[in-house]
Amino acid sequence: MQTKLKQYTIAELCDGFVYNELEEKGLYGLSGRLTIQPEYQRNYLYAEDNGKKEVAVIDSVLKRYPLGLLYFNKLPDGRLEVLDGQQRITSLGRFLTDKFSVMNNELPYRFHALPMDKQTLIENTTLLVYECEGSESEIKQWFQTINIAGIPLNEQEELNAVYSGPFVTKARTVFSNSRNANVQKWSAYVRGSVKRQDFLNTALDWVSHGQVEEYMQAHRREAHIDELQTHFNNVIAWAESIFADCYSEMCGLKWGQLYDDYHDTTYNQKEMTQRAAELMDDPCVKNHKGVFEYLLGGEVDTRLLDVRVFDEATKRRVYRRQTDDARRRGVSNCPLCAMGHEAHRTKVWGEKEMEADHVSAWSQGGATTEENCQMLCRTHNRAKGNK
Ligand SMILES: [Zn+2]
Repeated sequence: MQTKLKQYTIAELCDGFVYNELEEKGLYGLSGRLTIQPEYQRNYLYAEDNGKKEVAVIDSVLKRYPLGLLYFNKLPDGRLEVLDGQQRITSLGRFLTDKFSVMNNELPYRFHALPMDKQTLIENTTLLVYECEGSESEIKQWFQTINIAGIPLNEQEELNAVYSGPFVTKARTVFSNSRNANVQKWSAYVRGSVKRQDFLNTALDWVSHGQVEEYMQAHRREAHIDELQTHFNNVIAWAESIFADCYSEMCGLKWGQLYDDYHDTTYNQKEMTQRAAELMDDPCVKNHKGVFEYLLGGEVDTRLLDVRVFDEATKRRVYRRQTDDARRRGVSNCPLCAMGHEAHRTKVWGEKEMEADHVSAWSQGGATTEENCQMLCRTHNRAKGNK
């Protein structure tokens, strides 16, 4: 791979700049010779958060701070593509075409309203560019290793760059598109940002059972995403078919994994929905996120719920009562030790050596109340297991 260091003024870079509002990307620069957002690049992010980042780019120029290196990929026909610097160039282009303002003497100014000397300063500021020529794989390998100023690429954005092609392009029109009307419905189950590729990443994770990169590699030349889309829709439809009500705790669960584990099991939607509502309201359930997997698994693994334990005052009262009673009768204060034949039959355990247990198991409807609390020695409590 060959690299050449070049200098361009901001006026040159932004000549012919067009911002596409619909796709939220900057298109061309250098009089049309430069493609600012090739298909493997991500959406423009600097306008988010009230445009703090794009304003910072202009402020840096006005203060003569360096903007950092830009990297362009030189194509065989001489055209250039931005490899790194897309967010900065788009900020500059948007400012030069009066898309946002910056503060000057405590007033907001669009570019063409700024004093002439400041306009000229911006236009004549030069930026350093590395122009790279090499094979597609060389460029992509290298693109994967450079760090993007300001907002580092996340894992999925990097994979989109490395495995760019018809598959990624098509997948992004569905899963990376904030105008897709389904996104709101999906947000009940999928956490993250459409623009930062979290939905695409989730869809790929589900269909590939965690093998995202291998899946992208295998499908990169395909122009359709049927399997990806169908599987994603199946998982969401399956979750909806079991739990009729939506809870915020459903968002971000491993639905793909739950689907793999349980979609062959038959569930009664009415019962499942009812049980979910009861457990969400149960003051003993501390981990509400675990409710859905607990129910899908047939209400066996109570660890998923992190069931609330007895409070210290209750434990102390029960310990006192049990220990006084045991001393009177000359037996162990652990009722299970007292029934045994070994040395512990008469052992009086210290408070710290005992743990609270539900006499009637919580999962069988036993309440977390003093009447249902007994203290057991550690060994017996752990052996009992099922809460
Ligand atoms: Zn015991």
